[in-house]
Amino acid sequence: MPEQHALLSASGAHRWLSCTPSARLETQFPDKGSESATEGTLAHSIAELKLRKYLGTISPQKYRAESKKLAENEKYSHEMETYTDSYIEFIKDKAAEYATKPFIVPEQKLDFSNIVPEGFGTSDCVMIGCGKLVIIDFKYGQGVKVEAKMNPQMLLYAVGAVNEFAICYPINVIEVCIFQPRIDNIDTYTVTWEFLDVWANGIKPIAEKAYKGEGEFNPSPDGNGWCRFCRAKSLCRARAAFSEKPYKSTNGAAPELLSREEIGEILKRADAIKKWIADLEEWSLSELLAGNEVPGWKAVEGRSVRQFSDTDAAFKHLVDSGYDEAVLYERKPITLTAVEKLLGKKDFEAQLSEFVIKPPGKPTLALETDKRTAITNKTTAAEAFGSAE
Ligand code: SF4
Repeated sequence: MPEQHALLSASGAHRWLSCTPSARLETQFPDKGSESATEGTLAHSIAELKLRKYLGTISPQKYRAESKKLAENEKYSHEMETYTDSYIEFIKDKAAEYATKPFIVPEQKLDFSNIVPEGFGTSDCVMIGCGKLVIIDFKYGQGVKVEAKMNPQMLLYAVGAVNEFAICYPINVIEVCIFQPRIDNIDTYTVTWEFLDVWANGIKPIAEKAYKGEGEFNPSPDGNGWCRFCRAKSLCRARAAFSEKPYKSTNGAAPELLSREEIGEILKRADAIKKWIADLEEWSLSELLAGNEVPGWKAVEGRSVRQFSDTDAAFKHLVDSGYDEAVLYERKPITLTAVEKLLGKKDFEAQLSEFVIKPPGKPTLALETDKRTAITNKTTAAEAFGSAE
């Protein structure tokens, strides 16, 4: 769930642990949210409701009424039902791993202020029993694959859960789970209580620095990374610094032509600069539309295309004028993605997987750290994907 009130939120921990002054700097900027955050909040509400139904903490009538209300949201889609159903199945599977029925709590507020000043957060699901604590986080986003290993958000939830429950339940082992169904990402990571304690005490001084707004600004090396969700990302001078650095040849007296190494470096920096420029453009446009000045720039109406004010009425007029209706309409199938959205992932796979092919993609540049296999004109993309004979 979004955590909007803690200065040092668990969900922002990767950022403020990496760039300690960021949390205080961000307070100058409003949290505007985003389309995907609104969608994620709705999916979380559906998931929470289903979990409460599974746990029997909500009456069937209340469940039906609440579900109906959520389904009226404009962001609602059928696939949300499929993904939240699979979230509940995952929780059931996790519960089945316990020798005796575990205690399960949805939407548990967790206080980890013993490690992070004023730190608290809300975990989607906490499960506990038989010496084992499980923390499950439902991630509805699909832009970034979230890993469980050493994930500071999850480890801070674990600290909060230990604070809350260790007095009643012995805890030896802690498992943190990321459930990110839209990209088939289920990732788990297990630590001991001792490990968690050492980790938490290790980050304590960093959290104290972050709370005071002290330390050095530290943009993520690719100019994006943990800067991506920072509210200061557009105006932050430290993030801008990577683009201001003059480009220097490493070969002493610069030859007339760029070397391959230099081109590699320029391309790496260009990717980060493109993302940064996009953030600056978005910020500048919203400033200009708000009536504020950005020297040298103004907001104008973009290119627009003509359209019928009432397509049905216009086409009826044409038919009434004698045009054959058949020439006015074309019958087109909806896209594969739209079909998948309509059916839901599971049903789509069951019914249509034999009809789905994936032709090799057009060659494209990627960083050498990219997981895809490198191709050349000699090894075709099809071979790299393993689909050729
Ligand atoms: S944009 Fe990046 S470098 Fe700047 S404050 Fe935010 S996290 Fe730190």
